[in-house]
Amino acid sequence: MTSPEQATPSDFIRNIINEDIANNKHGGRVHTRFPPEPNGYLHIGHGKSICLNFGIAAQYEGLCNLRFDDTNPTKEEEEYVQSILEDVRWLGFDWEDRLFYASDYFEQMYDYAVQLIKDGKAYVDDLSADKIRECRGTLTEPGKESPYRTRPIHENLNLFERMQAGEFEDGARVLRAKIDMASPNLNMRDPVMYRILHAEHHRTGNKWCIYPMYDWAHGLEDSIEGITHSICTLEFEDHRPLYDWFLDQLGIYHPQQIEFARLNLTYTVMSKRKLLQLVEQGHVTGWDDPRMPTISGLRRRGCTSRSIRDFCDRIGVAKTDSTIDIALLEHCIRDDLNKNVTRVMAVLSPLRVIIDNYPEYQTEEIDAINNPEDPTAGTRKVPFSRVLYIERDDFREDPPSKFFRLAPGREVRLRYAYLITCVGVVKDEHTGEVVELHCTYDPATRGGNTPDGRRVKGTIHWVSAAHALEVDVRLYDRLFMVENPSDFTNGDSFENLLNPDSMHILRGYVEPSLSGTTPGSRYQFERLGYFCVDSKDSSPERLVFNRTVALRDSWAKIEKRL
Ligand code: ATP
Ligand code: MG
Repeated sequence: MTSPEQATPSDFIRNIINEDIANNKHGGRVHTRFPPEPNGYLHIGHGKSICLNFGIAAQYEGLCNLRFDDTNPTKEEEEYVQSILEDVRWLGFDWEDRLFYASDYFEQMYDYAVQLIKDGKAYVDDLSADKIRECRGTLTEPGKESPYRTRPIHENLNLFERMQAGEFEDGARVLRAKIDMASPNLNMRDPVMYRILHAEHHRTGNKWCIYPMYDWAHGLEDSIEGITHSICTLEFEDHRPLYDWFLDQLGIYHPQQIEFARLNLTYTVMSKRKLLQLVEQGHVTGWDDPRMPTISGLRRRGCTSRSIRDFCDRIGVAKTDSTIDIALLEHCIRDDLNKNVTRVMAVLSPLRVIIDNYPEYQTEEIDAINNPEDPTAGTRKVPFSRVLYIERDDFREDPPSKFFRLAPGREVRLRYAYLITCVGVVKDEHTGEVVELHCTYDPATRGGNTPDGRRVKGTIHWVSAAHALEVDVRLYDRLFMVENPSDFTNGDSFENLLNPDSMHILRGYVEPSLSGTTPGSRYQFERLGYFCVDSKDSSPERLVFNRTVALRDSWAKIEKRL
């Protein structure tokens, strides 16, 4: 694992690049790309790939393209394209003038296919998809050759042209590479290159009714763009010989593919298919639900892009799959917010406190420190008056031995304000629930100081009831109850794995300095965690806050064990 202080990370991919530069491979150029398929919103796994590809380009003064791998019209949408652009930009990366679409290369890909047909290296197969699958063989058995495999070249050319012209129905025919049906690598058993699909494409409209398969298209895209290092996840290792084969047969520019382990995180799923299912089945409110591991969800939750980049640096890149503890991500988020956001006071589970000896119509402006971690952040004024709210949890009628907060007859410090002593408890006649406390304050303790040096252990936060803003607050917990939900989610049901308590909505009070705050603004609510103004549901009349993370850091403990 690389430490956050390390300016230039080192890993096996960078070692390969260093060697390539030393050997003047690709003329010393470094050109990477991030190639998402626009069939969903980006998740933090993509974040890892983005940081890696753009990070390497920056480190070696090379270039990184953003390319939409839009070869599958039925699952792709413009909405996804826009969200991906926004997310990459938000993460802090710039593709400059290098935004590309695989669909821009359809013509070129078609010409390459014709070239392979002419060379006797591709053929039109009339077998159905099922039949082709059936004849593919297994890891222990070779596949069976299609009866159409020996079709003469002129017939293949004619049929492929007619496929393209729209003469045939979906699934009637495919174009296949003619490689080796007995290859131990199943990907090499005459893979399908083109299928017929009369579907409208989000960019090319109805121009095409044949679409290239991923394995045929992907290597070509990298070649066309002159990519030097095609960095991808491990599952494509077995596909590399096929990409190599296509490029070698065509005799065109050949990038080098390097595979690394994808990011997996505990207590969440990381595949667009499964995330889409969560959205479609209504388990979350959308792709950007703050519980989602998507970039847009993390952003809406209040994470900074800096903390996500920091996280990606810390996990590094490896050649073997592993699952990262989500506590590390939370640690990175907290670490960054701790240094940078303003502390304010908010009460989420209010209990009324009346200060009997405080003048009824008086208000004082109390100085509060904005961020003890940042001396330049300054101070602000917080109003103090006779009626306050404190956190219900900060009072116990029967305090246990280690409880140093408020209790009958006990004194406690109100943060930045005064020491108060509880002198009375008002309860609901019927339920016995505590509804109000009566306290007295010591005017000599302004600012929370004790001129006589008496020790008061507990300090609690508060807001002035007459001045506080009533707000909605959403507390989030992990979306799944099990550590590795992907182990169980091969079926279609998430029901038994989802955490039924992943969101709690509370009505709370915040100090009036937050009036006029804008969507996306982040704060620490003292003693409660980090919160962000929701970008969708918050309005000036009714502020809505999402809790980004709680204050307690479980990662420090975990790190010690490692
Ligand atoms: P998913 O499996 O989540 O649907 P994908 O791999 O199909 O993801 P793409 O849009 O094809 O999604 O991914 C774009 C790039 O992001 C690819 O280069 C892919 O290797 C990389 N990527 C996807 N998921 C992860 C992950 N969990 N960790 C690291 N990189 C990833
Ligand atoms: Mg994919």
